Amino acid sequence: MPDNSEGKMIRRPPFLYSLALLAAVAAVLLPFRAPAQAPRSFVITGAEVADGSGVPLYRANVRVQGERIARVGDFTPDAGEAVVDGKGLVLAPGFIDTHNHSDRGLEGDRLAESQISQGLTTLLLGQDGGSPWPIGEWLEKFRSEPPALNILMLVGHATVRRKVMGDDFRRAARPEEVAQMAQLVEQGMREGAVGLSSGLEYEVGSYSTTDEVVALSRVAGRYGGFYISHIRDEADRSFEAMRELLQIGREAGLPVQNTHIKIATAGVWNRAGEVAAMYDAARHAGQDVTADCYPYDAWHSNFKVLVPNKQYEDPASVAKAIADIGGPQNLLISTFQPHPEYEDRTLEEVAKAKGMTPTELLMEIIREGDGSVIGKGMMEADIRTFYAQPWVMVSSDGGIGTKHPRGAGTFPRVLGRLVREWHWLTLPEAVRRMTSLPAWRLKLMDRGLVREGMAADLVLFNPQTVIDRSTYREPEKLSEGIEKVYVSGVLVWDHDHATGARPGRVLAK
Ligand SMILES: [Zn+2]
Repeated sequence: MPDNSEGKMIRRPPFLYSLALLAAVAAVLLPFRAPAQAPRSFVITGAEVADGSGVPLYRANVRVQGERIARVGDFTPDAGEAVVDGKGLVLAPGFIDTHNHSDRGLEGDRLAESQISQGLTTLLLGQDGGSPWPIGEWLEKFRSEPPALNILMLVGHATVRRKVMGDDFRRAARPEEVAQMAQLVEQGMREGAVGLSSGLEYEVGSYSTTDEVVALSRVAGRYGGFYISHIRDEADRSFEAMRELLQIGREAGLPVQNTHIKIATAGVWNRAGEVAAMYDAARHAGQDVTADCYPYDAWHSNFKVLVPNKQYEDPASVAKAIADIGGPQNLLISTFQPHPEYEDRTLEEVAKAKGMTPTELLMEIIREGDGSVIGKGMMEADIRTFYAQPWVMVSSDGGIGTKHPRGAGTFPRVLGRLVREWHWLTLPEAVRRMTSLPAWRLKLMDRGLVREGMAADLVLFNPQTVIDRSTYREPEKLSEGIEKVYVSGVLVWDHDHATGARPGRVLAK
């Protein structure tokens, strides 16, 4: 009827108008409303919590809501809420590795299985003086295509030194060159680096003076960063190198870390107690100095690294190299293509069988084509002494694709062997060295503890079975006993496989 149709026509505009108004109001309100909606949550029940602080294990339920830990305590999950049964397992904060070499590996392997399978949720990259460049650009790639776990980056001292000096780096830098390097350190820090790394024992870094490193560290310190160093010598002159580290910290006024702390030649073995006393004295005097340590007493490399002065044909140099590692019984031949029959035997055994001296044999091996060797360079007692220091954290000095078992095994090895089998550390204390201690060093204020409000980077592991499986022969074999790993509340590792999720963040400042 005309009236009705007319009426409809009259009513239509206000109806449409109110719809548009509703849509407009909703458009304004919705963005504000979304966070108020409770994010997806689940509760891990019945686990023993090693909360990262070092206190004894306690039983608690832990609710994860979105990216955060929402509740820790004795409560019942809500009706319909997802539950993860943690009975018989330990729940800890995700592990943080302050010396990791996955920079390159992550580019082609965002899932980082060999890392997350150890319970790792955060890696500090750019170690030993080498970092990608420019740092901002590199980090951006990982923001747009995130990895499974979180990463942080350091400015590499050798990297900026090469940028400024090119191939002419085998000398002390001139003042204007140091000034240019300082500008690059500043650029790196502005682009998100959290500190300066050096490898003063390596080719490029070894030519730098202490003053150069102090000048660059000062810049890193100004941006709230710290200095982490593979120090100038880990052999006979270790103590000198450690004193230099302390000097750099004092003069540049920033925290310092002696990374992969070790005393690696016979001349300094059994002196870890003296090292600890020296660092303790500095700490008591108010200096912020820490260290990190990997739980292995041997390195895996080529024969040539044994002879640092590169005099492979000089019997005295080669003999000194063998003496430095404590004798030919401490060198296990891993691979040697010209004579596969040498493999898995020590230099001492093969030399005896051939009626040669170990020095003659080592010279012959290097002449015939090198190969790989496992050198037992550290005393177990020294490593134990380092781990007894409350300021020593666990680190791997490994990463994706590392040809040393530490790359895939470090963190489960500490839990399975150092804690469960050898009783060097209690479980809560070992977890503290993997979580809150490195988080504090890196100023990650919302990680490293199982506490309400913290990021939900979490590891569930079986304390009875957790163990490393990587060996010198099979360095990439994955660890066992890490049951579930969460990064920002997202499951990335489930018992024996990566889930494929990539919630990792660039944790730059
Ligand atoms: Zn190193």
